[in-house]
Amino acid sequence: MTERTYLDHNATSPVRPEARQALLDALAATGNGSSVHSEGRASRAAMETARLRVAALLGADPRGVVFTAGGTEADTLALTPDYRHGEEKLSFDVLLTSAVEHAAVLRGHRFRADQLDILPVDARGRVRLDEVDAALERHAAAGRRVFASVMLANNETGVIQPVAEIARRVHARGGLLHTDAVQAAGRIPISLPALGADLTSLSAHKLGGAPGSGALVMADPDLRPAPVFAGGGQERGLRAGSENVPAVLAFGAAAERAGASVESEQTRIHALRERLEDALRCEFPELVLLVGDVDRLPNTSCLSLPGVPAETIVIALDLAGLAVSAGAACSSGKVAASHVLTAMGVPERIARSAFRLSFGWSSGEEDVDRALGVIRRVLPGLLRRRAAA
Ligand code: PLP
Repeated sequence: MTERTYLDHNATSPVRPEARQALLDALAATGNGSSVHSEGRASRAAMETARLRVAALLGADPRGVVFTAGGTEADTLALTPDYRHGEEKLSFDVLLTSAVEHAAVLRGHRFRADQLDILPVDARGRVRLDEVDAALERHAAAGRRVFASVMLANNETGVIQPVAEIARRVHARGGLLHTDAVQAAGRIPISLPALGADLTSLSAHKLGGAPGSGALVMADPDLRPAPVFAGGGQERGLRAGSENVPAVLAFGAAAERAGASVESEQTRIHALRERLEDALRCEFPELVLLVGDVDRLPNTSCLSLPGVPAETIVIALDLAGLAVSAGAACSSGKVAASHVLTAMGVPERIARSAFRLSFGWSSGEEDVDRALGVIRRVLPGLLRRRAAA
């Protein structure tokens, strides 16, 4: 069997050993965190430790962490026009978001379609601050209160958005800001106080926890979105339903590990990615690096081989032992150009041939060597097919 090289951490990262152990230990234990007996209290205590660990990853108050069943659910919980802050009721008239958000945000959830205001991005994939100012001005003039949602880093391109600058502007107009930090968390250092986001979405499986676990983190624990699920009073009444304790504990273990090494890993992984990109630039001038000179995650490369459908590239690389994604993994199988690249103004012929390589905690120098080996073997054949087409 061909040796496999996995460069698709933005789709999902392998479960870290610490997270796997935490998961197995929790499966071997029993106890509902809402029960008063010893087993229940042990379960509750373990979950509170996980909450501290997840909060520490963002420099946040652990009381603001609400565990969910993943990043999509965290985004869904955040995106509502109805909030409370203590006794005060807050309601929002507009969801101001960007054209490059993940589908989990772009749907708008409990905002009506006519309440969505979608900001364009520039050619490098960054939300334009002048457009933010203009939109906020327009909504303020019409007496509309804004809830903004702008991702910290993009899943397809790795581009990092100017979230702190946007948060300042939104706050100056009395709005709230949510950020989807699903791809950024554990890959770049994040300080919620410096970022200024009021709500932040996380997903465990992108940082080495188990799939089906995530969190919505409120910078101010008194801020409460209207819950999505009604039922028991778990997670301070914000997420009814018995908690997925094993996945929560694995999330805590992964968050602790990711947080402890985030700075050194950022440097290490950036060096791996640079070595790969430098070699590709030099050996294969036909490959287009779609996102280069912009603030982006250290682990993500977004490339295109114009004229060859992305699915063809992904399948050819897969057969040769290299796992990568075409556009967004969550929607792979789709044939249309990605909405992210389209919003950046990338021509359709190039966008339809885009593929993504993403490194992570388990990646090493050998992955760069093997990936280059596979690309060297596969690309000439793809180029010949393109020429013959
Ligand atoms: N937000 C972003 C930016 C993502 O990349 C993803 C998954 O790819 C999600 C949200 C959804 O997270 P989950 O898979 O945990 O539901």
